[in-house]
Amino acid sequence: MDINRFLKEIKTELICESCGCVLNHKTNCAVALKDEIIYRTCQCGHTYKIDGRITVHGYQSKNEKGTTTHILEIRIDGQLIPKYLSGNEVKSKAGVNRINQLEKIESYLNSDAGRLWALENAFSEFDLILQQSESIGGKNEFNQ
Ligand SMILES: [Zn+2]
Repeated sequence: MDINRFLKEIKTELICESCGCVLNHKTNCAVALKDEIIYRTCQCGHTYKIDGRITVHGYQSKNEKGTTTHILEIRIDGQLIPKYLSGNEVKSKAGVNRINQLEKIESYLNSDAGRLWALENAFSEFDLILQQSESIGGKNEFNQ
């Protein structure tokens, strides 16, 4: 994990939901970083997990006239809302031949270059709906 990002996360004040005390880098809470996950443990023993990874949750493939299009579903930093990446671009960026090489793809997405690329290129489900409605002539319920 990038050191600036790590410092930013641990300097952010957290109110412990268990005992109500304030956790920041000055209080005596414990901080640990393991596999890109930050663990902040309050003096009362309550632990907060801050996931700093991009995780891959699956993919969809569509074959049209011999051309296969893949969409990769990811989560960024433990957020619940899914984001998507063009699977075809991910494949070439991560240097894999098949979209189901998810471990290799995930490790690329968590490299410095991969993370930057993913954050710039990830789109939401809403973007996807807009894209599809544009491809059928820009007709959707908003501009009839
Ligand atoms: Zn506490």
